[in-house]
Amino acid sequence: MIHIRSKREIDLIRKSCKIVVEALDLVEELIAPGIETQRIDEEVERFIVSQGGRPAFKGYNGFPASACISIDREVVHGIPGTRHLNAGEIVSVDIGVECDGFYGDSARTYSVADVSVEKTHLMEVTLASLSKGIEQVRAGARLSDISHAIQTEVERANYSVVRDLVGHGIGRKLHEEPQIPNYGKPNTGPRLKQGMVLAIEPMVNMGGYQVDTEADNWTVVTSDGLPSAHFEHTVAVTDNGPEILTREP
Ligand code: MG
Ligand code: MG
Repeated sequence: MIHIRSKREIDLIRKSCKIVVEALDLVEELIAPGIETQRIDEEVERFIVSQGGRPAFKGYNGFPASACISIDREVVHGIPGTRHLNAGEIVSVDIGVECDGFYGDSARTYSVADVSVEKTHLMEVTLASLSKGIEQVRAGARLSDISHAIQTEVERANYSVVRDLVGHGIGRKLHEEPQIPNYGKPNTGPRLKQGMVLAIEPMVNMGGYQVDTEADNWTVVTSDGLPSAHFEHTVAVTDNGPEILTREP
Protein backbone atom coordinates (compact mmCIF):
# COMPACT_ATOMS: atom_id res chain seq x y z
CA MET A 1 0.00 0.00 0.00
CA ILE A 2 1.24 3.46 -0.89
CA HIS A 3 0.50 5.85 1.95
CA ILE A 4 -1.21 9.18 1.40
CA ARG A 5 0.14 11.75 3.81
CA SER A 6 -1.82 14.64 5.27
CA LYS A 7 -0.53 18.19 5.11
CA ARG A 8 0.51 17.87 8.75
CA GLU A 9 2.43 14.65 8.06
CA ILE A 10 4.18 16.22 5.07
CA ASP A 11 5.16 19.13 7.30
CA LEU A 12 6.79 16.64 9.66
CA ILE A 13 8.59 14.90 6.79
CA ARG A 14 9.72 18.36 5.61
CA LYS A 15 11.24 18.96 9.04
CA SER A 16 13.35 15.78 8.82
CA CYS A 17 14.28 16.66 5.25
CA LYS A 18 15.54 20.08 6.35
CA ILE A 19 17.99 18.41 8.72
CA VAL A 20 19.13 16.11 5.91
CA VAL A 21 19.74 19.07 3.58
CA GLU A 22 21.71 20.96 6.19
CA ALA A 23 23.77 17.84 6.96
CA LEU A 24 24.57 17.46 3.25
CA ASP A 25 25.55 21.15 3.12
CA LEU A 26 27.88 20.49 6.05
CA VAL A 27 29.42 17.56 4.16
CA GLU A 28 30.07 19.88 1.23
CA GLU A 29 32.15 22.09 3.52
CA LEU A 30 34.06 19.12 4.93
CA ILE A 31 34.92 17.32 1.70
CA ALA A 32 38.59 17.91 0.91
CA PRO A 33 41.67 15.85 0.15
CA GLY A 34 42.95 14.15 3.29
CA ILE A 35 39.81 14.00 5.39
CA GLU A 36 38.93 10.62 6.85
CA THR A 37 35.48 9.36 5.91
CA GLN A 38 34.71 8.49 9.53
CA ARG A 39 35.35 12.12 10.47
CA ILE A 40 32.66 13.19 7.99
CA ASP A 41 30.33 10.61 9.53
CA GLU A 42 31.00 11.86 13.06
CA GLU A 43 30.26 15.45 12.05
CA VAL A 44 27.05 14.40 10.29
CA GLU A 45 25.87 12.46 13.33
CA ARG A 46 26.68 15.30 15.71
CA PHE A 47 24.80 17.75 13.53
CA ILE A 48 21.70 15.57 13.15
CA VAL A 49 21.48 14.98 16.89
CA SER A 50 22.03 18.70 17.59
CA GLN A 51 18.93 19.42 15.48
CA GLY A 52 16.76 16.98 17.44
CA GLY A 53 16.91 14.28 14.78
CA ARG A 54 18.09 10.69 14.77
CA PRO A 55 20.46 9.34 12.10
CA ALA A 56 18.12 6.93 10.36
CA PHE A 57 20.77 4.72 8.79
CA LYS A 58 22.62 3.97 12.01
CA GLY A 59 21.54 0.49 13.08
CA TYR A 60 19.25 0.08 10.06
CA ASN A 61 19.62 -3.63 9.29
CA GLY A 62 22.81 -3.31 11.31
CA PHE A 63 24.44 -0.51 9.26
CA PRO A 64 27.17 0.89 11.53
CA ALA A 65 27.21 4.60 10.61
CA SER A 66 25.06 7.71 10.15
CA ALA A 67 26.11 8.42 6.56
CA CYS A 68 26.76 6.10 3.65
CA ILE A 69 29.99 7.29 2.01
CA SER A 70 30.82 5.70 -1.32
CA ILE A 71 33.94 6.60 -3.31
CA ASP A 72 34.42 6.32 -7.09
CA ARG A 73 33.56 2.70 -8.03
CA GLU A 74 31.52 2.35 -4.84
CA VAL A 75 27.89 2.91 -5.81
CA VAL A 76 26.09 3.14 -2.46
CA HIS A 77 26.17 1.88 1.15
CA GLY A 78 29.89 2.53 1.66
CA ILE A 79 30.86 2.34 5.33
CA PRO A 80 32.82 5.31 6.68
CA GLY A 81 36.20 4.38 8.12
CA THR A 82 39.86 5.31 8.18
CA ARG A 83 40.04 5.86 4.43
CA HIS A 84 41.22 9.36 3.47
CA LEU A 85 39.75 11.17 0.49
CA ASN A 86 42.05 11.95 -2.41
CA ALA A 87 41.89 14.75 -4.94
CA GLY A 88 40.20 13.56 -8.11
CA GLU A 89 37.78 11.18 -6.40
CA ILE A 90 34.01 11.52 -6.45
CA VAL A 91 32.18 10.76 -3.22
CA SER A 92 28.51 9.88 -2.85
CA VAL A 93 27.10 10.72 0.56
CA ASP A 94 23.64 9.47 1.50
CA ILE A 95 21.94 10.65 4.69
CA GLY A 96 18.63 9.74 6.33
CA VAL A 97 17.03 11.43 9.33
CA GLU A 98 14.10 10.53 11.54
CA CYS A 99 12.46 13.25 13.59
CA ASP A 100 9.12 12.98 15.43
CA GLY A 101 8.44 9.65 13.75
CA PHE A 102 8.91 10.82 10.15
CA TYR A 103 11.81 10.30 7.77
CA GLY A 104 13.76 12.26 5.16
CA ASP A 105 16.37 10.83 2.78
CA SER A 106 18.71 12.52 0.31
CA ALA A 107 22.07 11.94 -1.35
CA ARG A 108 24.59 13.95 -3.34
CA THR A 109 27.81 13.12 -5.12
CA TYR A 110 30.66 15.54 -4.44
CA SER A 111 33.98 16.03 -6.15
CA VAL A 112 37.18 16.05 -4.10
CA ALA A 113 39.19 19.01 -5.38
CA ASP A 114 39.50 18.84 -9.16
CA VAL A 115 38.05 15.78 -10.85
CA SER A 116 38.23 14.63 -14.46
CA VAL A 117 35.91 15.92 -17.17
CA GLU A 118 34.49 12.39 -17.42
CA LYS A 119 33.57 12.17 -13.75
CA THR A 120 32.13 15.68 -13.81
CA HIS A 121 29.94 14.71 -16.73
CA LEU A 122 28.80 11.55 -14.94
CA MET A 123 27.70 13.63 -11.95
CA GLU A 124 25.94 16.17 -14.16
CA VAL A 125 24.03 13.49 -16.05
CA THR A 126 23.03 11.74 -12.81
CA LEU A 127 21.68 14.98 -11.36
CA ALA A 128 19.92 15.79 -14.64
CA SER A 129 18.30 12.35 -14.66
CA LEU A 130 16.99 12.96 -11.14
CA SER A 131 15.48 16.25 -12.34
CA LYS A 132 13.88 14.50 -15.32
CA GLY A 133 12.41 11.88 -12.99
CA ILE A 134 11.07 14.52 -10.62
CA GLU A 135 9.47 16.40 -13.54
CA GLN A 136 7.20 13.38 -14.01
CA VAL A 137 5.84 13.64 -10.47
CA ARG A 138 2.23 14.85 -10.58
CA ALA A 139 -1.14 13.43 -9.58
CA GLY A 140 -2.38 11.08 -12.29
CA ALA A 141 1.03 10.16 -13.72
CA ARG A 142 2.14 6.52 -13.52
CA LEU A 143 5.01 5.46 -11.31
CA SER A 144 7.09 4.10 -14.19
CA ASP A 145 6.98 7.47 -15.93
CA ILE A 146 9.59 8.50 -13.35
CA SER A 147 11.68 5.39 -14.03
CA HIS A 148 11.52 5.80 -17.77
CA ALA A 149 12.50 9.48 -17.70
CA ILE A 150 15.56 8.68 -15.60
CA GLN A 151 16.66 5.80 -17.80
CA THR A 152 16.21 7.82 -20.98
CA GLU A 153 18.35 10.69 -19.72
CA VAL A 154 21.10 8.33 -18.50
CA GLU A 155 21.27 6.14 -21.59
CA ARG A 156 21.27 9.17 -23.88
CA ALA A 157 24.70 9.86 -22.37
CA ASN A 158 25.78 6.23 -22.81
CA TYR A 159 25.81 5.55 -19.08
CA SER A 160 23.92 2.81 -17.21
CA VAL A 161 21.36 2.86 -14.43
CA VAL A 162 21.89 0.35 -11.66
CA ARG A 163 19.11 -2.25 -11.77
CA ASP A 164 19.58 -3.97 -8.44
CA LEU A 165 18.76 -0.94 -6.27
CA VAL A 166 15.69 1.28 -6.36
CA GLY A 167 14.06 4.41 -4.96
CA HIS A 168 11.17 4.05 -2.53
CA GLY A 169 8.23 5.54 -0.74
CA ILE A 170 9.12 7.24 2.54
CA GLY A 171 7.26 8.58 5.55
CA ARG A 172 6.81 6.76 8.83
CA LYS A 173 9.47 4.32 7.70
CA LEU A 174 12.68 4.91 5.80
CA HIS A 175 11.64 2.47 3.09
CA GLU A 176 7.98 2.12 2.20
CA GLU A 177 6.08 1.06 -0.87
CA PRO A 178 6.36 1.59 -3.76
CA GLN A 179 9.74 0.54 -5.07
CA ILE A 180 10.89 3.00 -7.74
CA PRO A 181 13.26 1.45 -10.28
CA ASN A 182 15.44 3.81 -12.30
CA TYR A 183 14.54 2.09 -15.55
CA GLY A 184 11.45 0.74 -17.26
CA LYS A 185 8.71 1.34 -19.80
CA PRO A 186 6.52 4.42 -19.31
CA ASN A 187 2.83 4.37 -18.34
CA THR A 188 2.81 1.33 -16.06
CA GLY A 189 2.49 0.84 -12.32
CA PRO A 190 0.34 2.70 -9.81
CA ARG A 191 -0.97 6.18 -10.46
CA LEU A 192 0.54 8.92 -8.37
CA LYS A 193 -1.78 10.69 -6.00
CA GLN A 194 -1.54 13.92 -4.06
CA GLY A 195 0.00 13.17 -0.66
CA MET A 196 2.36 10.40 -1.75
CA VAL A 197 5.99 10.96 -0.74
CA LEU A 198 8.75 9.36 -2.81
CA ALA A 199 12.52 9.08 -2.47
CA ILE A 200 13.80 9.15 -6.05
CA GLU A 201 17.43 8.15 -6.39
CA PRO A 202 19.20 7.33 -9.65
CA MET A 203 22.46 5.44 -9.23
CA VAL A 204 24.36 5.85 -12.48
CA ASN A 205 27.42 3.91 -13.64
CA MET A 206 29.90 5.22 -16.17
CA GLY A 207 30.25 1.68 -17.54
CA GLY A 208 27.91 -1.31 -17.27
CA TYR A 209 24.96 -1.52 -14.89
CA GLN A 210 26.24 -4.64 -13.11
CA VAL A 211 27.16 -4.30 -9.45
CA ASP A 212 28.58 -6.52 -6.72
CA THR A 213 28.56 -6.38 -2.94
CA GLU A 214 31.88 -6.27 -1.11
CA ALA A 215 32.92 -8.66 1.66
CA ASP A 216 31.67 -6.17 4.29
CA ASN A 217 28.17 -7.14 3.07
CA TRP A 218 27.26 -3.48 2.56
CA THR A 219 29.39 -1.67 0.02
CA VAL A 220 27.93 -1.95 -3.47
CA VAL A 221 30.54 -1.53 -6.21
CA THR A 222 30.48 -1.47 -9.99
CA SER A 223 31.52 -4.82 -11.42
CA ASP A 224 33.74 -3.18 -14.04
CA GLY A 225 35.44 -0.85 -11.54
CA LEU A 226 34.32 2.32 -13.33
CA PRO A 227 32.93 5.19 -11.24
CA SER A 228 29.33 5.65 -10.20
CA ALA A 229 27.29 8.64 -9.02
CA HIS A 230 24.14 8.96 -6.90
CA PHE A 231 21.71 11.80 -6.26
CA GLU A 232 18.49 11.49 -4.28
CA HIS A 233 15.60 13.73 -3.27
CA THR A 234 12.55 13.16 -1.10
CA VAL A 235 9.63 14.48 -3.15
CA ALA A 236 5.95 15.01 -2.29
CA VAL A 237 3.17 14.74 -4.88
CA THR A 238 1.12 17.94 -4.56
CA ASP A 239 -1.75 19.61 -6.42
CA ASN A 240 0.85 21.65 -8.26
CA GLY A 241 3.21 18.84 -9.23
CA PRO A 242 6.36 17.83 -7.35
CA GLU A 243 7.53 19.48 -4.17
CA ILE A 244 11.17 18.64 -3.48
CA LEU A 245 11.34 18.38 0.31
CA THR A 246 15.14 18.01 0.32
CA ARG A 247 15.85 20.90 -2.00
CA GLU A 248 18.95 22.93 -1.27
CA PRO A 249 18.09 26.44 -0.04
MG1 MG B 1 19.27 7.72 0.67
MG1 MG C 1 16.72 6.28 -0.29
